[in-house]
Amino acid sequence: MPSGRFFLPGPTEVHPEILAAQAAPMIGHRGKEMQQLMAALQPPLQRLFRTERPVYVAASSATGLMEAAIRNCARRRVLSLVNGAFSERFARIAAANGREVEVVEVPWGQVVTAEMVADRLRQSPDVDAVTVVHSETSTGALTEIEALAGVVHEAGDVVLLVDSVTGVGGAPVESDAWSLDFVLTGSQKALALPPGLALGVAQPTALARAEMQDHRGVYFDLLEFESNIIKHQTPNTPALSLLYALRAQLERIDTETVAGRWQRHDLMARRTWEWVAGRADRGLAILAPEGARSPTVTSITLPSNHTGPAVTAALKERGFVIGTGYGKLKETAIRIGHMGDHTVAELDALLEALGEVLDR
Ligand SMILES: *Cc1c(COP(=O)(O)O)cnc(C)c1O
Repeated sequence: MPSGRFFLPGPTEVHPEILAAQAAPMIGHRGKEMQQLMAALQPPLQRLFRTERPVYVAASSATGLMEAAIRNCARRRVLSLVNGAFSERFARIAAANGREVEVVEVPWGQVVTAEMVADRLRQSPDVDAVTVVHSETSTGALTEIEALAGVVHEAGDVVLLVDSVTGVGGAPVESDAWSLDFVLTGSQKALALPPGLALGVAQPTALARAEMQDHRGVYFDLLEFESNIIKHQTPNTPALSLLYALRAQLERIDTETVAGRWQRHDLMARRTWEWVAGRADRGLAILAPEGARSPTVTSITLPSNHTGPAVTAALKERGFVIGTGYGKLKETAIRIGHMGDHTVAELDALLEALGEVLDR
């Protein structure tokens, strides 16, 4: 398959140069070379997360750090903002780790507003942690996490745990300036890396919570990540080949700049929205409302003469890959992952092919 045609909202297309970087030979993970590699990764990772804190790199998919967020930072009662499949997963992880969970739920495609959260926190003074998914990959909705962090912190000793798996690297995220207590992402979405790494930043507020938790476990203990990363070490065997890919991709990101990457994603999203708007008379619509749309993924609802599986299959015959709607939206929607290293020109080619499929 030629490059520029794989628009799944995860895993995303990986540049051939990045795939090739993984072929470098192994090094001992307790030696000087490994420390040099870990040290070299930190400055570009900190630029990516807009933080002066160290950036943790876990050998797991993003769900691993979602579990870490709960186990380390949520004391007893969690408020989960639920507006799609991944935010639902965050609530499920909290419950599965023995936390009391309450939810503020809105229909798929919508977002929970900061005002709704402020109201709920006034009614529920026992809540000590809030979970949110920044960019809901299942619906294409984007939650304003800056405003949210404000109301969460106004409520007192409450921490905000942010899944920004399709945010970081594609949508603006200011870990420090917005005081995101814990924010995480995965390698295979907006960062356009192969799956298998999770990345996260913990503020001192998150570490203070971890220090008070008796059962943090071992593999996802944030205090272990912290004590190791400051020595440029890893608590256990790192996913070395993926770190080589990460090093190469961070160089590419630095060349483009993080702000340049946000801008490119914004352009791709706007192009997609305009294209859908131009087909409103033919029954196409964007699931998420204006003002709450992700720059990395768009869920498009289909007219009744098309289904998600049929459209994705017809596109595949034309050499393009996109996603069907997620879960319960599988039949009635499609999703375009306009994220990672894609360009507006590549997106235009996809939209042209999609138009042909829909007009058949
Ligand atoms: C993909 C995704 C996840 C899960 O990531 P895994 O890497 O599969 O564990 C979590 N949250 C969001 C928003 C995602 O898009």
